[in-house]
Amino acid sequence: MGDKVSDDCRFNTRLLHSRASKGYGQREILPPIAQVTAFQYENMEELEKVFAHKSMGYAYTRIGNPTMSAFEQKINEMEGGAGAICCSSGMSAISAALLAVCNSGDEIITGSGLYGGTIDLFHDLEKLGIHTIFTENMTAGNIKSLITDKTKVIFGELISNPAQKVLDIPEVSKVAHEAGIPLFVDSTTATPFIARPLELGADVVIHSTSKYINGGGNSIGGIIVDGGKFAWDFEKHEALKEFKKYSKLAFSVRLRTDLWENLGCCMAPFNAYLSFIGLDTLGLRMERICRNADALAKALDKIPDIKVNYLTLPSHPYHEYVEKELGGLGGGILNFRAGSKERAFKIINLLKYALIASNIGDLRTLVIHPASTLYIRSTEGEMEAAGVYADTIRVSVGIEDSDDLIRDFTNAIEESIRGTVL
Ligand code: PLP
Repeated sequence: MGDKVSDDCRFNTRLLHSRASKGYGQREILPPIAQVTAFQYENMEELEKVFAHKSMGYAYTRIGNPTMSAFEQKINEMEGGAGAICCSSGMSAISAALLAVCNSGDEIITGSGLYGGTIDLFHDLEKLGIHTIFTENMTAGNIKSLITDKTKVIFGELISNPAQKVLDIPEVSKVAHEAGIPLFVDSTTATPFIARPLELGADVVIHSTSKYINGGGNSIGGIIVDGGKFAWDFEKHEALKEFKKYSKLAFSVRLRTDLWENLGCCMAPFNAYLSFIGLDTLGLRMERICRNADALAKALDKIPDIKVNYLTLPSHPYHEYVEKELGGLGGGILNFRAGSKERAFKIINLLKYALIASNIGDLRTLVIHPASTLYIRSTEGEMEAAGVYADTIRVSVGIEDSDDLIRDFTNAIEESIRGTVL
């Protein structure tokens, strides 16, 4: 099909008319769901060529599948990458990406305010001899002081969940690159609608697509996007040495033909389809979600005994990054402190529209008490660094009408005072 999409079109136009959205076999508007395990060939010679990477084609869904490819191409285009690989979950994407560049004895530098599951993963990697060094704030200065010869990657979340700290990608990537180290960014909570980490200086972007990318709360998934610009030093990054001939694409090639394939963490074709159609409305949803979150945060901030953590509030310690890095938006997650665990539970139970659920990025507003769920295995120090206290409520704001959300939350907060000891 003719390629009519111009490079200067805006987000939603690009999303719907991306090159990745053109030219399926039977002129379908959406990618067909190739819900198969294997692909058949006319003769053995053809299949041999596919296995030897001498001709394009699919052999077995764990190694590649056209529905997965359509989703990969679309995200790759939205992030401005050189190639993308979709995975069974956000956690498998983070695991595969880190294992592709770290051997036993290597070190990772990261921030302590990350998603709890990722912190748990760093503890698992410790058992494999991969050591993680945590810094409370991922400033360029803090990171510089922690880099050693063993450091192989710096990992951060652009907007950390739930801490709401913003990674200064331009500054941190500068320090990383001076030391020959790549910067991997989990951009799940920001999405390419809010920021494109590769353009800001990151080398690899990772998403849990289970969240805003899918948006409908109907499938788990993850994706790794390689910027393809990092100049790997194969003496330093021994994990990639075997892939030296692929130069700047060594990371992607190792993942695709080695680690990702052998870990068996591919995305299911049906989930790739659901994520693809979810992604189509990312711009619309994010615009509305960010507007709702901003309005709700500002309304809750007026209630005297409630402490709100949301980036667009002028008092927020990372407020300057809203304009500097996030296109004026604060994302879809806000936290607030209710004064006590008892009152936090009461407020959550009184809400009419917010669902009590362990997820973010859904169309529907979701709430949770992180200390007794997501951080149940974390130390008090780890929780504090993530901005999680006994009285914290995390809200993943949805696309409902903001007046209804504000009324629901303010009513629940007022009502919760009755009989509660603060
Ligand atoms: N990264 C972030 C920022 C998350 O919030 C989550 C899940 O909440 C993950 C990664 C893990 O994603 P998944 O649940 O798809 O494995």
